[in-house]
Amino acid sequence: MANASNLLPWHPRRLDDEILSSWMLRIASGNGISVRSLCAWLGIDDDWVREIDSMDPYNPLVNHIAEAAGVENEIVVKSLPSGLYGLFGESISSTDWSWNPQWRLRGGTPPNNLGNQYCPICLRKFGHYQLSWTIAVYSCCLQHKCFLRDHCPHCGKTFLGAARFFDSYTANPKRDLQLCAYCGRSVVNHEPYELADEKTLKLTYMLDSLVRKPACVDYFEVLVRLLHVMCRPSALAKHMRSQMLPKSHQITSRYWSGTPHNFEYLDVKSRAFMLQAVVSLFADWPDYLVDVLRSTNDLHHLHHLFMHKSLPNWYESAVRIAATRNRCPKPSDREQFLHTAIQQGWVTAVQFAKRTRDSGRFLHLESA
Ligand SMILES: [Zn+2]
Ligand SMILES: [Zn+2]
Repeated sequence: MANASNLLPWHPRRLDDEILSSWMLRIASGNGISVRSLCAWLGIDDDWVREIDSMDPYNPLVNHIAEAAGVENEIVVKSLPSGLYGLFGESISSTDWSWNPQWRLRGGTPPNNLGNQYCPICLRKFGHYQLSWTIAVYSCCLQHKCFLRDHCPHCGKTFLGAARFFDSYTANPKRDLQLCAYCGRSVVNHEPYELADEKTLKLTYMLDSLVRKPACVDYFEVLVRLLHVMCRPSALAKHMRSQMLPKSHQITSRYWSGTPHNFEYLDVKSRAFMLQAVVSLFADWPDYLVDVLRSTNDLHHLHHLFMHKSLPNWYESAVRIAATRNRCPKPSDREQFLHTAIQQGWVTAVQFAKRTRDSGRFLHLESA
């Protein structure tokens, strides 16, 4: 193991925003071996080779990979989804490989398959897979301002990550990564790409500026809870969707049963629309959230808004206010919320919510 670096004559450097599995494929192929053999050298348990992107940043294998690739640990951590500390926090257990896959994009069938997206222009030009393509908050390419694609334009099946080539001794990453896992055709030269709307782009810029900041983990924990509540097959979710999403915004889930289930299963545009709605709940905190929740007849379902582990105080108290008839938010609730947002560095998300909240909605509440 200590000699891994000497065993590998070729050390391709990590490309822009490249995810670990894509980088490992290029390292292995450049040295004429399979990723599975490379991982065996590095002491990575065979069962985990395909899950290599799910590794936590404190796993000792990060050192081994860094040594083999001839780089600092930090470079390897940056290629891991779990290195986005704003989304996942810094306290992922160092022994638990099966960390919560929230925010990781999901394919349709089989139910637990991780999905992937791609920017057709980036993929054609640079030929590697980007970390942000596996994360459900990303629905567009910030460089090319187009929607990402999460399916093959020929056969319509889920676009998969680089792990599908891990057993191959002869993978040619630049060519093979552009091919659909199911029909084998090129995914980059088909239909023209679709430019993303201004709102989706601004939203993605805003979230992208927060995903690497560890102090933003509270914001994302609340965001993911609200997203999951709104994407469930429940009456509360149905009501919130009908209240908050314009009729033109059809929500399509790729979950195998076809019903809404989880944010991570939504197709690319549905995720963009759902994020726009849920991000706006942070406007005029907690009044807007309280209004939305109180407008449903399903207040007894509000327990879905909590989790077994505790969420930030400013959030839990807002849900409790909504659940208690005749109780109104106090100015101090808002002050505490704003104070936290400033201190933790995500006040831009609050300002964004205020600017983009659709004030044409909830007329019946505002006039009440
Ligand atoms: Zn791009
Ligand atoms: Zn295909």
